Amino acid sequence: MTDILSLTKEELLEDFRTAGLPAWRAAQVRKWLFRPVRSFDEMSNLPLDLRQSLAERYHLYKPKVLRKQESAQDGTIKILWELADGNSVETVLMRYRYGNTVCISSQVGCRQGCAFCASTIGGLVRHLSPGEMLDEVLFTELETGLPVSHIVLMGIGEPLDNYDSVLRFLDCVHDEDGRNLSFRHITISTCGIPDKIRALADEGVPVTLTLSLHAPDDETRSRIMPSNPGVASLIEACRYYARKTGRRVSFEYAMIKDVNDSMTQAELLARHAKSVGAHVNLIPLNYVKERHLKPTDKSGIRSFQKALEDRGITVTVRRSLGGDIDASCGQLRRKYNRQAAQKTEREEELPSPGPA
Ligand code: SAH
Repeated sequence: MTDILSLTKEELLEDFRTAGLPAWRAAQVRKWLFRPVRSFDEMSNLPLDLRQSLAERYHLYKPKVLRKQESAQDGTIKILWELADGNSVETVLMRYRYGNTVCISSQVGCRQGCAFCASTIGGLVRHLSPGEMLDEVLFTELETGLPVSHIVLMGIGEPLDNYDSVLRFLDCVHDEDGRNLSFRHITISTCGIPDKIRALADEGVPVTLTLSLHAPDDETRSRIMPSNPGVASLIEACRYYARKTGRRVSFEYAMIKDVNDSMTQAELLARHAKSVGAHVNLIPLNYVKERHLKPTDKSGIRSFQKALEDRGITVTVRRSLGGDIDASCGQLRRKYNRQAAQKTEREEELPSPGPA
């Protein structure tokens, strides 16, 4: 069976044509796909026999809420979903003055191995389909009652490692019959795969690109981000992206005590940012239980920021949203999996019910 949510408009139309159904029916069904319905039966303006034949031909798997947490500090809402195959991913909704932003996952787990990130601890399980990413948006709106105006691919996984599905997802949310969301309201955050950054620049989908740089020199970067292809090649790919799309690139920089927060590193970072015309986002490292890295303290962040600003770089220090709800990538999924494993262990310890 086909995942109907992952089909492009043209593919759905072609399927309907082959089945002898009129094009306007495909348009009618497609409208429903951008609403959070859980079955073809809920598509109330379709004739019953069509609903039945759709159910025979297509999957319409829908995520279930496993956990939902709301930050008492800032209203950030984090949802852990169960997917059709039992895997789980997280979505975070952040409320900003300019609108609600949903931060979605693009993979179950991650294979990039970054030393500070909880998402990669169990490795990559699988890619998410375009439909599963779309559902993160639709069902987060349904669950929170809050309309989403911006999307960032900054949850679990490396979006450029799931390139084709991410492009299909972008196509879906951008489509005027779909969500009609401007590419300017969509951000892709990547740990940095130079070929894919160039390919994305050539696609004609001018989304905002954020590079998780985290270290300006290869020695440090390869230590904390083992998939580092080399800072020079990343900077070159970002320059290409900025030139080709006319969009400003940003660098994410999680500040880790005594690892990437020296003044020499600030200087080198400033040089890279200048050559790309990039904005720098400093983030105090979110403590992850399994990792032994500490955040740079407030005064260290301030001096680092000043060193960058003195060199003409625009810098923001990201407010760390949702610190009280395990909001860093993969933390909630990790906690849930751990608790589920402990529960299973406990269940296994119980004597099995014997014959009466
Ligand atoms: N794979 C993509 C997107 C997912 S990670 C990427 O690397 O960009 C989203 C962002 O959160 C990245 O910038 C990542 O480096 C950062 N991040 C992960 N764990 C973190 C932590 N413990 N503290 C601060 N930022 C973290």
